[in-house]
Amino acid sequence: METKIIKIDKNNFKEEELKEAADILKKGGLVAFPTETVYGLGADGLNPEASKKIYEAKGRPSDNPLILHIANIAALEELTVECPEMGLKLAEAFWPGPLTMIFKKSKAVPYKTTGGLETVAIRMPSHPIAYELIRKSGVYIAAPSANISGRPSPTMAEHVIEDMNGRIEMIIDGGMVDIGLESTIVDVTGDVPTILRPGYITASMLEAVVGTVNFDKVVLAKKADANIVPKAPGMKYKHYAPKGDLTILEGSMEAVIQGINECAAEKLSKGFKVGIIATDETFSRYPQGLVKSIGTRKDEDTIAHGLFQILREFDTEGTEYIYTESFESKQLGQAIMNRLLKAAGYHIIKVHDTGLL
Ligand code: AMP
Ligand code: MG
Repeated sequence: METKIIKIDKNNFKEEELKEAADILKKGGLVAFPTETVYGLGADGLNPEASKKIYEAKGRPSDNPLILHIANIAALEELTVECPEMGLKLAEAFWPGPLTMIFKKSKAVPYKTTGGLETVAIRMPSHPIAYELIRKSGVYIAAPSANISGRPSPTMAEHVIEDMNGRIEMIIDGGMVDIGLESTIVDVTGDVPTILRPGYITASMLEAVVGTVNFDKVVLAKKADANIVPKAPGMKYKHYAPKGDLTILEGSMEAVIQGINECAAEKLSKGFKVGIIATDETFSRYPQGLVKSIGTRKDEDTIAHGLFQILREFDTEGTEYIYTESFESKQLGQAIMNRLLKAAGYHIIKVHDTGLL
C-alpha cells in the first residue's frame, strides 16, 4: 500500500486540509496523526474491521485494548454505561488533555477495540489536528501509539514513517509533539480512582481534584513480577525498547556517573558501540561512548520530551549497549522511570558510592 504523507501546520491550518484524512477514517482506513502526547495510529473505533487493521499494522497483541479519542464530552453517553462523578470531575479538570479514563463500556463499543474487556479507555486530546480530525471525520478514533508494537513511541512524523510507511493509508506530519510521553491512564470504575499508567498528569494533580488516588501495583514495581497482572493489559508487554541493550543505573549522582563510565569502558574495550543517556547537568562527565543529553533535570518536561527520540537515535546509530541515569521525582519522574524500566526490561544496576559492586 502506498502511504500518503501530508504536512499540516498545527497552529495555522484550514479544516479542508483534513478532509482526505477524515474520509479515509470514515471508510474504515488508517491515518497516523499527531496528538499532544505521541503520534497516534487512528481508525474508526466503533468499526471492528477498522480496529482490526490497527492491530495488524502495529503487530499488536489482540488482547491489548485501544484508547478511543473523542472531541465532545457528550460522547461519554454513547460509549459508556455510566460515568461516575469522579470521572466527570476529572474530565472537567483535564480534558481536552493528556488524561485517559477507563469506564464501563456500552454495547456500541466492539470487543475488538477493547481487547475483549467490558471496559473502555477514553481520552479527549487537546492537539488541534487530533481534535479537528475527530470532529471532521465524525468517528470516535481508536488510536494507540503509531509505532510497531514494542518499539519506542513516535514523537515526530519521521518516527511514524520509519515504522508505518507502506502499512497505512496516510500519515499527517504535524511536527514534533508537545509532551512526548503517552497519556496518564486512570481507572474510574471502582471506588477510588486508580492510576494504571503514569503520565504528564501526575498523582498530585489528580488528587487536587478528586482526593486520594491509588496506583495499580505494577506501576510502581521495580521488577518484572509474573504474579502481578497489570490492569492495563498493555503494561505486561515489553515496550518502548531500543534495539540495543538498555541498562539503568541507580544511586547517588556521583556513583551513577562513575558506574556508567565503568560499564561503558568495559564494553568499549571489547569493541562494542556504547551509548550513554546523560542530562545537561552531567553531559561533560562522560568522556567516552556516544553521549547524548536527554534534557535538563531543572525542567523534567524536557526529559519526557527527549526520551523516545533519544532511544530511536541510538537505534539509528547501531548502538549495542546503552546506559542511562535514573529519574526518581514524584512528579514526571514517575512516568519517565516507568517507560525507562519497561524499555530496559527492568534491567537496573544499583550503584553505591564505593563503586559498582
Ligand atoms: P497505547 O495507546 O499504545 O499507549 O496503549 C493503550 C494503553 O491503554 C494500553 O496500555 C492498554 O492496556 C490501556 N487500555 C486501553 N483500554 C483499557 C481498558 N479498557 N482497561 C485497562 N487498560 C486499558
Ligand atoms: Mg503504545
